[in-house]
Amino acid sequence: MKAYSQMSKEELLALKSDLEKAYDDFKARGLKLDMSRGKPSSEQMDLSMGMMDVFHSRADLTAADGLDCRNYGNLDGLPEAKELMASMMECRAEDIIVYGNSSLNVMYDTVARSMTHGVMGNTPWCKLDKVKFLCPVPGYDRHFAITEYFGIEMINVPMTPEGPDMDIVEKLVSEDEAIKGIWCVPKYSNPQGISYSDETIRRFARLKPAAKDFRLYWDNAYCIHHLYPDKQDTILEILDECRKAGNPDLAYKFVSTSKVSFPGSGVAALGASQANLEDIKKQLSIQTIGHDKLNQLRHVRFFKNIDGMREHMMKHAAIIRPKFELVLDKLDKELGGLGIGEWLRPIGGYFISFDSLEGCAKAIVAKAKEAGVIMTGAGATFPYGKDPKDSNIRIAPTYPSMDELGLAADLFILCVKLVSIDKLLE
Ligand code: PLP
Repeated sequence: MKAYSQMSKEELLALKSDLEKAYDDFKARGLKLDMSRGKPSSEQMDLSMGMMDVFHSRADLTAADGLDCRNYGNLDGLPEAKELMASMMECRAEDIIVYGNSSLNVMYDTVARSMTHGVMGNTPWCKLDKVKFLCPVPGYDRHFAITEYFGIEMINVPMTPEGPDMDIVEKLVSEDEAIKGIWCVPKYSNPQGISYSDETIRRFARLKPAAKDFRLYWDNAYCIHHLYPDKQDTILEILDECRKAGNPDLAYKFVSTSKVSFPGSGVAALGASQANLEDIKKQLSIQTIGHDKLNQLRHVRFFKNIDGMREHMMKHAAIIRPKFELVLDKLDKELGGLGIGEWLRPIGGYFISFDSLEGCAKAIVAKAKEAGVIMTGAGATFPYGKDPKDSNIRIAPTYPSMDELGLAADLFILCVKLVSIDKLLE
């Protein structure tokens, strides 16, 4: 196919008039499709409905340590829930706290506590003139929303195929004491689906931050979210790497079963060094008497162990893999070689990241909306919602049906072509 930049003005105008007809046809259909949020489909959630059968009115709700899960007690997780979550996190059960239903909530609390009470005896951030976070971009909008909410200045760090640009991270972190953290999604990142290389993770573990209370906010949200049985990324375990590098307190690791069982009704956990966990528990014991143990128990009884979880994730993969492939194959076929967009082919996670020509993303998303397809807002993948190149668009293929997704992808591709032509004609 001929690259658009190689086409004459006349050729572009002729193409535009054909594409506009197709676009008007789409508009006339009155579509109402949503490719905006990374939610599992109903079919995926059906996979976990067996969890509802685990409990009944005569079920024995006693935990492995004899605790009656119906009552108060247990701050940091049932022993069997710790085993299950720790094996999902590839770390030791003693290195984690099992929380409630949301890892984002744990991340928010972690930032909030650092603000009001500081990290392991260091000055609370609210008493400092300036607090900054590094934000690998494109990234997860809700991470950025937390740091923005607390008035923390966010600094963009470009992603590379190996993870965040570590030359920049090392330089900034070692020079500036106001930098207190970095948001990381180390495996099948949101939105690009990139997994950090061993070298990147070792460089993270060996960081020498100017701030003693600098932490890696290591959100391993997609740790077991593979799309293929035989093509799977593995990454180095960060707590272990930090210990080996003599930096045991550097990382907070977050996970949840939101996209394993039920979003909003899963189980979340945090992993960290003993010193960090002690520091966190001082606050946690004030905040709650304990999290939802019945939900923890239900998850353990349903999945049994990490093998059960992995098997379950392959059932998710069987549902969502064709959706990813549908969109990716359309992108390859319709946009490959045109020079008006770039995308990666993820093998896990929940998203496809698309980069349009500079200055086109907002217009593409607006044009898709006008014809009835909602995409994630352009800019959402950057701090403050500002993509300096106005180019990144996050595609979330999991929720719509295959038919809807096919239509939405066709329309998206049409919008990319139309907006790109306008850009080239400027
Ligand atoms: N972290 C990342 C990177 C995500 O993409 C998401 C959801 O999309 C979450 C966290 C939300 O996690 P939870 O449901 O555990 O709050």
